[in-house]
Amino acid sequence: MTTSHYIAGRWVEGQGSDCISVNDPALGQPFAELMAASVAQVDQAVAAARGALPTWKATNASERAAYLRGFAEQLGQRREALITLQMRNNGKPRHEAEIDLDDAIATFSYYAELAEQLPSKNRDVALAAPGFSARTRLEPVGVVGLIVPWNFPLVTSAWKLAPALAAGCSVVLKPSEVTPLIEQAYGQIADSLGLPAGVLNIVNGKAETGAALSNHSGLDKLSFTGSNSVGSQVMRSASAQCRPVTLELGGKSAIVVFDDCDVDQAVEWIVAGITWNAGQMCSATSRLLVQDGIATALLPRLQAALEKLRVGNPLAEEVDMGPLTSQAQWLKVASYFATAREEGLQCLAGGKVLDREGWFVSPTLYADVPKDSRLWTEEIFGPVLCARRFATEEQAIAEANDSRFGLVATVCSADLERAERVADALEVGHVWINSVQAVFVETSWGGTKGSGIGRELGPWGLSAFQSVKHVTRCLG
Ligand code: NAD
Repeated sequence: MTTSHYIAGRWVEGQGSDCISVNDPALGQPFAELMAASVAQVDQAVAAARGALPTWKATNASERAAYLRGFAEQLGQRREALITLQMRNNGKPRHEAEIDLDDAIATFSYYAELAEQLPSKNRDVALAAPGFSARTRLEPVGVVGLIVPWNFPLVTSAWKLAPALAAGCSVVLKPSEVTPLIEQAYGQIADSLGLPAGVLNIVNGKAETGAALSNHSGLDKLSFTGSNSVGSQVMRSASAQCRPVTLELGGKSAIVVFDDCDVDQAVEWIVAGITWNAGQMCSATSRLLVQDGIATALLPRLQAALEKLRVGNPLAEEVDMGPLTSQAQWLKVASYFATAREEGLQCLAGGKVLDREGWFVSPTLYADVPKDSRLWTEEIFGPVLCARRFATEEQAIAEANDSRFGLVATVCSADLERAERVADALEVGHVWINSVQAVFVETSWGGTKGSGIGRELGPWGLSAFQSVKHVTRCLG
């Protein structure tokens, strides 16, 4: 049983009624347990954040930057332990767990730099009218609730935590019940850096704990990453209290491959877009749109590449893809395999759960999937790729945009003018051209349409935790 709630600068036992099992998905077995935080403990965490806010927001930005640099440094010092825990609890292959850790470190370092630049952003405004002066102040939004999912625990939390602390907000973070141990590192680091008590609080728990936080009247803002169904509940709470919300939700993203592409290169980008993190990515490019002229060459190569992937236990062997992270996700993906069979879809690779211990499925490819198939329209959150063919650029753009989601897309073409033109026409928050999904802290993250509200990363990620104030003075 693990003590895993960090409230007002102290580690405390959970007093909620839910017992949370922390599982190793490669074995399908638990390796730790913890009690969820109670509603009263969520109250205590919000009260602690409220109490810490006046002093924290008054610190100068370079002091906050020093703490953020401390987070980056100490994440590095915990490197091996955090990589192993992600491999064990998420089922991530080592190289993916390493990239997540590096991303979290880069995020804290980046927002330390932005915090250092903050004083120069609080500056005089040039007014055309005579007789007045005005100045801008960028103030922290206040006490923020951060609710995150399980697929990239270190990263998703860093993308919220680092800018929130940089802006001068105090926070209550609720990690996912599927991966509740990984973000404890942030509490341990706060402890070891002497971050003032209450600036960062961590409460673990399931839906009840999340709802207690998102409904709490003591928050000034809630930033949520997760599913659309929970996102809409979180938005209802925000709406009931008329307060701001950032939502990073699901996706059903397209990868568009034109027939002037190098086939092997395209296969590499397509495979990475659907099998990274076993496809459990909001940004998975799970809809492949392939131009008629290249489809016949590409699909068999893609099938072979998917079948060649080494699927296994990341802690026991060298693997390209691990298991799905939870049994619930494994059952969900299996139910889509059943739907595909009922719909009579043409399966070119996989389409089945693996007959072994743990929550494994095979990398899967369905071809010529009808536009109204549930597999084409719904977020599956697994290594399941659906392909359709197109003839013209206009048709590709129309099909890619024909989704209630709008998170990301990838365009593959040797004609860079065309690739840029298509990128501009796609209704999403981020487009890659001839690339794997490289994510840089300086660029934004977030979606259009049903994929959410707001942006993380870059200066936009910081603005999400700031409020703009102007002070105007009559000089007369
Ligand atoms: P989820 O919505 O089930 O859970 C997310 C978080 O919300 C968890 O911490 C959970 O405990 C909490 N929660 C559950 N019920 C709640 C409630 N009623 N009120 C408040 N909080 C509640 O999502 P998940 O299964 O953990 O994650 C997968 C989803 O996250 C996918 O849809 C994926 O696309 C999305 N996601 C989006 C992004 C992005 O940046 N757009 C990134 C990662 C994941």
